[in-house]
Amino acid sequence: MSIGNAMHLVVLPGDGIGPEITAATVAVLEAASERFGLGLRLEADVAGHSSLTAHGTTIRDGLLEKVRAADGLVMGPMSTFDYTDERKGGINPSMYFRKNLDLFANVRPARTYPGVRHRAVSDFDLVVVRENTEGFYADRNMESGGSEILVTPDVCVSLRRITRACCERIARAAFRLASTRRKRVTAVHKANVLKIGDGLFLEECRKVAAEFPDVVLDEIIIDAMCAHVVRAPERFDVIVTTNMFGDILSDLTAELSGSLGLGGSVNAGTRHAMAQAAHGSAPDIAGQDRANPLSLILSVAQLLDWHADRLGSTAFASAGRAIEAAVAEAVAAGESTVDVGGTLGTAEVGRRIVGRLRGAG
Ligand code: NAD
Repeated sequence: MSIGNAMHLVVLPGDGIGPEITAATVAVLEAASERFGLGLRLEADVAGHSSLTAHGTTIRDGLLEKVRAADGLVMGPMSTFDYTDERKGGINPSMYFRKNLDLFANVRPARTYPGVRHRAVSDFDLVVVRENTEGFYADRNMESGGSEILVTPDVCVSLRRITRACCERIARAAFRLASTRRKRVTAVHKANVLKIGDGLFLEECRKVAAEFPDVVLDEIIIDAMCAHVVRAPERFDVIVTTNMFGDILSDLTAELSGSLGLGGSVNAGTRHAMAQAAHGSAPDIAGQDRANPLSLILSVAQLLDWHADRLGSTAFASAGRAIEAAVAEAVAAGESTVDVGGTLGTAEVGRRIVGRLRGAG
């Protein structure tokens, strides 16, 4: 942990496009640190395929302690689909840090930007707040082992865990956020089928809503939500939902905003947080200088905001806002990658954001 308001971050570049977008993001963090006097300390390490090659495991011994001693983590996307067997070192790094650092709130904003060709019927600005530590994720529900059970070679049972405590804290995170925005929370569920689990989730949302009288709560079933968010995305402010629904819905909202490559995300707990783009390692475009780095750049802006909120630091809050503004200005000027209609490569987009932070944009 850092002294005073400074911030110590561990940086794990990840797989596929991870190293390219992380290099661009680190340059942006360094520029922000210089301009706002943040005293950021960035410590590079490895996880994923590079760790598997070097250490025989995607997460080596000692890495968790190192991350625990820091304030946060910047993690590039990981090729989690490749990691099939934990006994052979194939630990899913996303699951590992979310579970071990109790990063319960996955906050995924999606908005349209002037100058970016989006896929929505109207401009919009919303945030998906997704529960991160239980739900339909077989790798994080049990004290040991997974929650998918092979009953016979042809029969599998997958268990979903839902707890009041986790529903309550994710609902509170959503209402707190909405109270700083347009004061509307939409709870997305499937309580018509998952009557007990999603019923419990809705009960907790309603209880928390009673503490925030100026925030409106509405409730929409997940399948209908996929239609509503395409039909009228401007209706939504903060969307709160369980793990799997939030994962899927936030890819939809990021793509509606123009590209998955604009999907920033922070995984936040009370003591630690991890900046991590919403998308995966995009092996189809890896190593080609084509990946959009803005998702990870926006994610680190969220990480600085999280730190600012925790410490009441105006410098960190200003740095987060300046990065977001630099991204908006750059995309408005057409300084972007092909996925959002631009012509620049990954590294050049990063350089343009750095230039804007230094006042040269
Ligand atoms: P993906 O999100 O990597 O890619 C989906 C599509 O979006 C691809 O066409 C890709 O080229 C494009 N895309 C993604 N990010 C982009 C960016 N920054 N700029 C431009 N285009 C971008 O999904 P996938 O191909 O299904 O998954 C690849 C690997 O990533 C799998 O191993 C999967 O398990 C893993 N994954 C990891 C995470 C994570 O680490 N958080 C999240 C999702 C998937």
